[in-house]
Amino acid sequence: MACGGQDPDEYKRVYEGESIAVYSTRGEDICARTFTSMEGYLNTLQDFTGVSIPQDEKIIHYWPWSCGDELEGCAAHLTSYSAVIPHEHELAHNILAHNLGAPFLFREGSAVVLSGAFFDGGDPSAIDPDELAARNGPPDGYPLVDSYASAARFNRFLLDEYGVGALLEILDATSSTGPDEIPASVTTVTGVEWTTLLAKYRAIDICPEIGYRLWLTECSAPTVAPIENQWEIAEKFSCETNAIGSVDKFWITRTIDIDPPGEHEITFVADPGVYAEIGSCGGCSAPLYVGLHEFGSTHTINMDAGKYFVRILGSGEHSSRALVRITSNTPQGP
Ligand SMILES: [Zn+2]
Repeated sequence: MACGGQDPDEYKRVYEGESIAVYSTRGEDICARTFTSMEGYLNTLQDFTGVSIPQDEKIIHYWPWSCGDELEGCAAHLTSYSAVIPHEHELAHNILAHNLGAPFLFREGSAVVLSGAFFDGGDPSAIDPDELAARNGPPDGYPLVDSYASAARFNRFLLDEYGVGALLEILDATSSTGPDEIPASVTTVTGVEWTTLLAKYRAIDICPEIGYRLWLTECSAPTVAPIENQWEIAEKFSCETNAIGSVDKFWITRTIDIDPPGEHEITFVADPGVYAEIGSCGGCSAPLYVGLHEFGSTHTINMDAGKYFVRILGSGEHSSRALVRITSNTPQGP
């Protein structure tokens, strides 16, 4: 996406590390663990894709930057701009920077799949890949989030079926040829006819809701151990001391390991303005997402065995407190 409007000269360098330098007009509003989190995400993404930032180069990131009404960010080669920080979607574009010329279906779909578990609410089954493939931008007549979600769901399918190497090859092949050549390029890489591949995609009930994203970093957050059949995540957190984000919106993340599976009761109590979310780390196989917005709310949900992340979010300059309690209703073994 094109990035216009602001003057880069007004931004000061507020961070320079291994992979990224951050320029800002509001450096004092960036939270304590934000830069560590961005470096960690970039390392994980480079390991996963096998694509490295060119030697002696760094990503240059500008925050805050307004990229237009509906867009939270934009990217150009090794430079990115965003309205929120961190913004993993643009960093994913930066890692795959040589593929920014790829058609919308692959360029945006791959970036969404690779940018972690933030929930934008788009409908991933709204638009067929054949319709997305026919043009080099989001189709008219659909909400923009549906275009991104639908592209991402198809890219997750390609990733699961053919591997990350194939997805990168498709991005490479279509970067120089454009939308008309998508069917031929995909067939060359996968060995499967485009129509056959689409039929297979349409027949598989994959990734309902938003489980198509790869949750690359949130599930490596510190693990909280249960006491008997109960997990208690009681946290005091603030932008200044231990959170990721900016004073506008920041968070801390923990993980829990659910076993045995079954019904769980979740209770949430927090200071005003604080909310929480719980998501499964199983990606497509066991998608689960619960938003905890109401003070003192209780939810009863079924949880598969496995790892989940618990994210607690706040805003402002003061410390906040939150308690998330998850209790298994399944009787414990002898
Ligand atoms: Zn994008």
